[in-house]
Amino acid sequence: MVSFQPSEDQQLIRDTVASFAQEQIRPAAHEADETGAIPSALIQQGWGLGLVQSVIPEAHGGAGEPISAISGALVAEELAWGDLAIALHLLAPRLLLYPIILAGTPEQQQRILPAFGANQFRAATAAVMEPRFGFDLAQLSTTAQRSDGSFTLSGAKCFVPIGGSAEQVLVYARTSDGVASGFLVDKGAAGIVRIEREQNMGIKALETTEMDFDKCTVPAANQLACDFPALMNRSRVGLAALAVGVARAAFEYARDYAKDRKAFGVAIAQKQAIAFMLAEMAIEIDATRLLAWEAAWKIDRGEDATREAVLAKHYAASMVMKVTDNAVQVLGGHGYIREHPVELWARNGRGIATFEGLVMI
Ligand SMILES: Cc1cc2nc3c(=O)[nH]c(=O)nc-3n(C[C@H](O)[C@H](O)[C@H](O)COP(=O)(O)OP(=O)(O)OC[C@H]3O[C@@H](n4cnc5c(N)ncnc54)[C@H](O)[C@@H]3O)c2cc1C
Repeated sequence: MVSFQPSEDQQLIRDTVASFAQEQIRPAAHEADETGAIPSALIQQGWGLGLVQSVIPEAHGGAGEPISAISGALVAEELAWGDLAIALHLLAPRLLLYPIILAGTPEQQQRILPAFGANQFRAATAAVMEPRFGFDLAQLSTTAQRSDGSFTLSGAKCFVPIGGSAEQVLVYARTSDGVASGFLVDKGAAGIVRIEREQNMGIKALETTEMDFDKCTVPAANQLACDFPALMNRSRVGLAALAVGVARAAFEYARDYAKDRKAFGVAIAQKQAIAFMLAEMAIEIDATRLLAWEAAWKIDRGEDATREAVLAKHYAASMVMKVTDNAVQVLGGHGYIREHPVELWARNGRGIATFEGLVMI
């Protein structure tokens, strides 16, 4: 039997994050987009909610909450409803923390987890994407050559969230047997030859970077022998949920605007051209959420969710573009100017189709 009833804990975390998004994130989003920077006090406040570190096992000083893809989807949607760039910044440390908890050796967990238990936001991230034509998650170009007690990484990565400020990056690379593994690389490691902030169309408040590795040597103990495809499924579900959050924000704004805006004496929401558009947006958002939740549900049951996660991410990428573009259209000329947030959501939502591999690959 499938149930859509969140548990008490999930409802509580959803309500908490929704309030935080409404009261703190949304009011900061426009300015953060303008300046390309997120106030550190806001990041600190988000960290204080425990959205990342609550899953650290009790043995390592954490609350030991289970890692749940469904809870993750609920949190991602609410944060992205506030702002996608701020959501991605707040969640970036999960990209390193979760794989360590799920697949790290006891030594790695002992070494890495305690730093995440501190009160300060712990900047950490993962480097997955590569700046090359036809990038495919199944065929990473970045290589890790083993020699004696170490691995040497060579290759280029892009769209690394908070890549410049991260204390540690989990770099995914292909070993000589052709399998993708994660490698823990510390900030400032020799062999990181370039870190450059990217200039993006959207999510401008989030620092994303290109990173080049040239014979970057890490101890063999830094290899994370993880199930890379399964981790990518978690990531796909997260991205789909983030897309739902952005699209829901745009839909709600456009719906309220349409009820208020009068043309020829009636609210434009009364005109079928607008009413049909809004109905279509609502349907698409709910449909995508269900795809994401189904994939998350399978992940939490320990099943292979590749098909469901790929469908959810693929559909979400198209959906968020369509819904945010429709929101701009509902506002008419006013949708195109920066006074209203729909243009920001349209630019931000466009990124979902790019993250972690283009939607058509
Ligand atoms: C910053 C800015 C600069 C501009 N500069 C110029 C300019 O230089 N020259 C110029 O000519 N104009 C200019 N415009 C006006 C622009 O052409 C209008 O914005 C445009 O005509 C749409 O009008 P609106 O923004 O009031 O949208 P609205 O009329 O409020 O329309 C909003 C939505 O409702 C729909 N809608 C409206 N009425 C109906 C209806 N009866 N039935 C079904 N659907 C309906 C529209 O298709 C749209 O999707 C400017 C607007 C802005 C915001």
